[in-house]
Amino acid sequence: MISAKGYAAHTHESALELYSFERKDPGEYEVLIDIIYCGVCHADFHQSKNEYGNTKYPFVPGHEIVGRIRSIGEKVSKFKENELVGVGYFILSCGYCQSCIGQEQQFCENGITPTQNGKLQDGTFTKGGYSDCIVVNENYIVSVPETLNQPGAAPLLCAGITTYSSLKYNQIVAGHKVAILGLGGLGHMAVKFATSFGADVTVLSSSAAKEDDAKKLGAHHFVNTSDKEHFTTLVNTFDFIVDAVSAKHDYNRYLNLLKKDGIMILLGVPPEPSTLHAHSLTGKRRKITGSFIGGIEETQEMLYYCAKHQITADVELIRPNEINIAFERMIKGDVRYRFTIDMQKL
Ligand SMILES: [Zn+2]
Ligand SMILES: [Zn+2]
Repeated sequence: MISAKGYAAHTHESALELYSFERKDPGEYEVLIDIIYCGVCHADFHQSKNEYGNTKYPFVPGHEIVGRIRSIGEKVSKFKENELVGVGYFILSCGYCQSCIGQEQQFCENGITPTQNGKLQDGTFTKGGYSDCIVVNENYIVSVPETLNQPGAAPLLCAGITTYSSLKYNQIVAGHKVAILGLGGLGHMAVKFATSFGADVTVLSSSAAKEDDAKKLGAHHFVNTSDKEHFTTLVNTFDFIVDAVSAKHDYNRYLNLLKKDGIMILLGVPPEPSTLHAHSLTGKRRKITGSFIGGIEETQEMLYYCAKHQITADVELIRPNEINIAFERMIKGDVRYRFTIDMQKL
């Protein structure tokens, strides 16, 4: 066994605390990774509070991991010791269903094993990247280019691939008019990728204070959604709306901003259902769809793309013992745009 330490929640009411535990030695096809940085995703907070009802404690969050390989199993062929690598939302899938064969493991028909709170065959639950090391099968890690800014690269493993995959699958290219709804962790990555793909990008936000930031991130236009008059002029404007809002909101209001055949892509998952009027779709043959992280091959492709175009997340680097304050600030939307934990300071 390998002794590990990290930050864990012990109940849904407790803050994260320093926690020592053991990880199993790497198997034949597994690698042991020393974690350098881990991004802080909204899911980490919600799961620590058992908001999805299935959290097993002690719960160690973290699925935006950048680290270096300490050692490898005998049969590992894809990676070497000391390589810089990343681990994202899941560390296993069945490997033989249509989705897995098609390199879309995120939709594995037999269920993925998430990097945090995922049930393993032996009945134990996975512990995530708010820790000093992790053991992962070589087929579920990706190579991180050395030229990328490492703290900014960590959030690419969840927020980055979630937005990249949704834009690629929907074939968003130069000339498209794309609206990004919500400028948080996901939204700011959507702006970076959409502008880099050549789209004409508008940020829709209810916070007027974000206009400067939106422009700095590369957005061409900004619309304050509380400005009803301006909002009305946008009806039938966009080819795509990337909806990165996780709080309940009225989809119909935004669907009306799509042109004929326009597509609204949902990335955020509000806790409660929302009413959809059929007319919002039928009148202009609009579509509404969703997207969820990305496959391993696509995550690798994204990281190479990011290295080529020097794209990383805008992050605020924190020490591990600042995680509870970071959670509070993240929930208030008080972060531009992602926290990354420096796990070397553990
Ligand atoms: Zn995430
Ligand atoms: Zn599968």
